[in-house]
Amino acid sequence: PLPTVAIIGRPNVGKSTLFNRLVGKRLALVDDQPGVTRDRREGDANLLGLEFRIIDTAGFEDEDPQSLPGRMRQQTEAAVMDADVALFMIDARAGVTPLDEEIARWLRAADRPVVVLANKAEGRAGETGVIEAMAFGFGDPVPLSAEHGEGVVDLFDALRPFV
Ligand code: GDP
Ligand code: MG
Repeated sequence: PLPTVAIIGRPNVGKSTLFNRLVGKRLALVDDQPGVTRDRREGDANLLGLEFRIIDTAGFEDEDPQSLPGRMRQQTEAAVMDADVALFMIDARAGVTPLDEEIARWLRAADRPVVVLANKAEGRAGETGVIEAMAFGFGDPVPLSAEHGEGVVDLFDALRPFV
C-alpha cells in the first residue's frame, strides 16, 4: 500500500487547493456517510514522481463529538493518526492565528511526524508568516503557493523522508 499523507489546517488556508493540485484527475471521493466523512477526500498523489495516498481533511473547530463540526474534527484527528506524515498548512499572509496554535498543540500531543506548509507565499508574500511558523517547533516551514504551483521542489524534499 502507498504511504499516506494527511493535510490539516484551519479553514481557507488552501488545503483543498493543494490536494487538487497533487491528485489532479485521480480524485476518489470516499464514503458518503452523512456528517461523518463529509469533506474527507482522498486520492493518489504524484509529486515529481513521489507517489502517496493523500487525505484532505476538513474541520478542527469543535470538540463536542455530538455536533457535526465535532464529528468532522474526529475524522481529521483520525486521518492524522493513521497517516505517515501530517502536512500542517497555515496561511503565510495571515500569519499564525489562535486556531493555528490550537492545531499545533494538538499535533504536538499527537506526536506524529509533521511538515509545516506556509501557503499563499507566492512571490515574496508571507515572509513574516513563514518566520512566525518556525515557532511551532516542527522544523522549518515550507513556503508554498498551492494555487500558483510554487514551492513544489521544497515540498518534495520535505516529504521524501516520510513517504
Ligand atoms: P481550505 O479550506 O483549506 O481547503 O482552502 P481552499 O483550498 O478551499 O482555498 C481557500 C482559498 O484560498 C481559495 O479562495 C483559494 O483560491 C485560495 N488559495 C489557495 N491557495 C492559495 C495560494 O497559494 N495563494 C493564494 N493567494 N490563494 C490561495
Ligand atoms: Mg477544503
